[in-house]
Amino acid sequence: MSHSVTLIPGDGIGPEVAAAARRAVDATGVSIQWEPVELNAEVISQTGQSLPQHVLDSLERTRVGLKGPVTTPIGGGFASVNVALRKKLDLFANVRPVHSLPGIASRFSDVKIDMVIFRENTEDLYSGLEHEVVKDVVTSLKVITRVASVRIAEYAFAFAKKVGRRKVVAIHKANIMKLADGLFLRCCREVAERNPEIEYKELIVDNASMQLVIRPETFDVLLLPNLYGDIVSDLAAGLVGGLGVVPGANMGEHHAVFEAVHGSAPDIAGKGIANPTAMMLSAVLMLIHLGELDAANRLQAAVEKVYAGREEVTPDVGGRASTNGFTDAVIGHL
Ligand code: NAD
Repeated sequence: MSHSVTLIPGDGIGPEVAAAARRAVDATGVSIQWEPVELNAEVISQTGQSLPQHVLDSLERTRVGLKGPVTTPIGGGFASVNVALRKKLDLFANVRPVHSLPGIASRFSDVKIDMVIFRENTEDLYSGLEHEVVKDVVTSLKVITRVASVRIAEYAFAFAKKVGRRKVVAIHKANIMKLADGLFLRCCREVAERNPEIEYKELIVDNASMQLVIRPETFDVLLLPNLYGDIVSDLAAGLVGGLGVVPGANMGEHHAVFEAVHGSAPDIAGKGIANPTAMMLSAVLMLIHLGELDAANRLQAAVEKVYAGREEVTPDVGGRASTNGFTDAVIGHL
């Protein structure tokens, strides 16, 4: 059976890692009809739309996307297209598995880290509702709703039950944001009560950050609102070797878009040294979603073999291989 997938290379290192992931997926033998669509600053300024219609049309057809990062201007310019896409398609769950790859050189190589982050993906301080009340006084609205909080909590608990994970920790700052984070927490507690077989705990986000660094092996499933989820994801990536190795999935009722945690990495774009692991492992999540479990397992195993052999890994994880060199090694193992 052939699958149609929208391929969004994005910009910065996006086109490099997207091409690598596409080659690796094709090498598994799974039949994919790729629909490449451009989504980057140039297209956005040409079309005058932060989310050009051709991207939405393609995702409407395929329902599945593999996406590279897209640069967002800082402190001005157009709004994040990444956030816009998640909202438009109601990709409410951002799922990010963080685990140690065999042989990877990281500060925590002697610790077994295996956690999954569930980040609410549609609201919170990402609402984009900002307002200059008077000159030099700005407010930014943090939106938390019952619907979105229950939905992400149910998704996290359902996942935990399905794959046999044992503990969910909700991460919050409800001691300060008593209403907003208080509501998020109440929703998590309600869902936890309906799932008594899963252990449920709560941590304040600052303490959680410290615990993640000193005892990362104790974390299993993490459940967070949007902003903490974003920050904690990068922290967690740092524990297992960096942003080059952590994949992600944006899941909705009708669409799924798979993308790495990392951004467009302008500091290394075009140098041929970007690590495509995160994008390839995002493709593994996509293959699972498509029901191609054998191909997913083989691609995961091939990536792990390259790390275990330490032959052909990229500079961000202590190696000397190029993006293409790493990709060739993965394909060799396939
Ligand atoms: P970044 O993730 O792009 O880079 C942070 C650091 O990690 C850089 O030093 C970079 O070189 C390194 N890095 C990231 N991915 C790597 C890879 N695959 N291989 C090797 N090294 C890698 O974060 P940033 O610099 O804060 O953001 C750059 C741009 O990306 C911003 O415009 C931001 O808005 C955007 N961004 C987009 C997404 C997305 O498209 N989903 C996500 C995050 C950031």
